[in-house]
Amino acid sequence: MNSSCDIIAKVVQTSPLKYRRNGELPIKFLALQDTPNEGPVKIALFGEDAQRDFNEGDVLSVTQTYRWKDTQTLSTKKSTKIEYLPQDSLILQQTGPCFNDDDFSADTTNSLGSEPEEFQIMGITSAHKYQCCPNSECRNKKLENDSCPTCKGKSLTRQTYFSAAQVVLRRSDGSYEMRKIFHTDLKLLCEMPDLNTMEEDPALYQFLTGLLPINARGLFLNGKITIMSTKRQHDR
Ligand SMILES: [Zn+2]
Repeated sequence: MNSSCDIIAKVVQTSPLKYRRNGELPIKFLALQDTPNEGPVKIALFGEDAQRDFNEGDVLSVTQTYRWKDTQTLSTKKSTKIEYLPQDSLILQQTGPCFNDDDFSADTTNSLGSEPEEFQIMGITSAHKYQCCPNSECRNKKLENDSCPTCKGKSLTRQTYFSAAQVVLRRSDGSYEMRKIFHTDLKLLCEMPDLNTMEEDPALYQFLTGLLPINARGLFLNGKITIMSTKRQHDR
């Protein structure tokens, strides 16, 4: 493995937004081309990076990535930053074939509701914070019995807390559903960059309740909602 490097590359293929870990972890794959001499490389994006909108032809700056020599794969670290550059800042013809593996095809477990819809959060039934593994490779895995199921790390000293809330929402067809919304989507829903300023669960609950009702637009897919936007501020 090489040491980490920064690259400028063109998006030549994007995967649909997918989820791992029972819908908690958004993931998206991109094929990037950074030199005219080699075919595209694959990069997996997680969390908020995965939920960003990428299109073929976009030119990106990717920092702190690792190129795995033999596998056509780029790895990222938690400190990896992805930024859009002007499209004409990198002119490259695509030289290799695109990927046609499962990473780039749609998850087929449930294709219903694959169009974004308007819905309204009517109530909050509970809100809580949970502790996550601070190791960046574990992608904010929730601790179980004070240890990380992924790296088996115990006695984790640094504390990383994420938030989740159980909500009652009304979908566009008028039906009501109870859903759990996790950290990244919750922040989007509240239009809050950071929910960790609220130390206690009751404070988080009270804050969320004070925002109701929240009008939002999202994608209901594979048993998971992805919040795309909220109209909370504009409706007041
Ligand atoms: Zn871990």
